[in-house]
Amino acid sequence: MALIGGLALGCQILALPAQAGVVVTGAAITGDKTRTEFSMTLSQGVTVEVFTLANPYRVILDMPDVTFELPKDAGQSGQGLISAYRYGLFAARKSRVVIDTVSPVSIEKAEMTAAPGGAVKLLLSLKSSDAASFGAGTGASRTASRPVQADLGRGADSPRPSRRTGRPVVVIDPGHGGVDPGALGASNVYEKDVVLAAALELFAELEKLDRFDVVLTRSTDVFVSLDDRLEFSRSRSADLFVSLHADAIADKRFTSQVRGATVYTLSDRASDEAARRMAEKENSADAIAGLPVLKEEEEGGVRDILIDLVKRETANFSMDASNSLVGRLKQATQLSAKPQRAAAFKVLRQTGTPSVLVELGYLSNKDDEKRLSSESWRRKVAESLAAAISAYFDRRTALAP
Ligand code: ZN
Repeated sequence: MALIGGLALGCQILALPAQAGVVVTGAAITGDKTRTEFSMTLSQGVTVEVFTLANPYRVILDMPDVTFELPKDAGQSGQGLISAYRYGLFAARKSRVVIDTVSPVSIEKAEMTAAPGGAVKLLLSLKSSDAASFGAGTGASRTASRPVQADLGRGADSPRPSRRTGRPVVVIDPGHGGVDPGALGASNVYEKDVVLAAALELFAELEKLDRFDVVLTRSTDVFVSLDDRLEFSRSRSADLFVSLHADAIADKRFTSQVRGATVYTLSDRASDEAARRMAEKENSADAIAGLPVLKEEEEGGVRDILIDLVKRETANFSMDASNSLVGRLKQATQLSAKPQRAAAFKVLRQTGTPSVLVELGYLSNKDDEKRLSSESWRRKVAESLAAAISAYFDRRTALAP
C-alpha cells in the first residue's frame, strides 16, 4: 500500500467542513525529478481524497464541487515528476484534479495548511518510486468497484425515464466535459466548451422540427464516462446517436493544412492511420479523467448470428447517417480532406443504435478554432446537422416495410 502521510492509501485528509462557494485560486508545481511538490490554494478547506492510479501513472485528488479560477492553460505543462494536470467537475457535486506523472511516484506528504486571508493551501509532495512499489499501491481496484455516477440527464432537456411517444429518439453527445477538457486550441479554446455550445444549438434546431425526442448526454460542464454515454443511449432506446467533437492534431507541422469537418463511423479496422489515432485518443477520455483503465472487453467473443445481423444493419444505417451528414455539412462549412472515415471509437460501439461521431473541425487549426468559437458559425452548422438528421429519418421511414 502506498502511504499518505503515514495513513493508508485512499484515506481522507480532513479539513474544515465543505461549504458552498469554495474557489481554487491558484496552483503551482515546484521541484525536480526526485521530489516534486504540487500545491493548490483554496478559499477555504474541503475534504480531499488522494490516491494513485497506474496505466498511465496518475495521482487523483477528489473533493466536493469547487470552482477553479485558474488560467486556461494551467496544467498544460509540468515540471519534475509531473507532466501535466487537469481539473474540473467529475460528477454532480464532485470535483477532481488529475495529475499525470512521468514515472511511478509515491505520495510522501499530503497536507492542508492555513494561508493568508482565511485561505487554505493544499500541499502534495511526490517522490520518485518504482513500478513494483507503485503497483502495490494503485487505487485502481478500489475505484473500479465504485460505480461512477455521472451527472446524466441534468436539466429539463433530458427527461428520465425516456418518453416513449413513438417519435424517433436522437441522442446528442457533446464530447468530453468537466475534468476532461478535450483538445485545447491555440487561443485557449477548450473542446469541451465549443462542442457543448454546438450541441445545445443542435438540440434547439432539432426541437424546432418537432418530430424527435432529443436528449443530451450532458448539458453542463461535467465529466461523463464513455460507459455512461453508452448506457445513456441504451436506456433511452436511441434511434440515432450523434457525438460531437473538435479535436486537435498533435503534429505541429500539419496544423495549418489539417482542418475541416469529418464524420466517423464505427469500424474495428480503421479507414486510415489518422482515424485510428483519433479513436485511440477519444477512447482514452476515461483515463484522462482519472478512471482506472480496464481491459477492453473481447468484442470477438460474441458469436450470436442475430447480434451480427443487428450490427450489420446498424452499421448500414450509421453509414446512411454519415452520408446524409456529410452531404449537408459541405453546404455549411469546409470539410476535411477525407470527410468520411471509420475507426474503433468506443462511444460508437452500440449494437442497435446507428451512431456517428462528428468532428466539427480541428482546434489545432487557427481558422477552425475561430469558426468553432463563433456563435453564428455554430448555428449554421447546427442547422445543417439538424437538416441532415431529418433527411436521414425521412429515408429510413421511406425504406421501412
Ligand atoms: Zn474529442
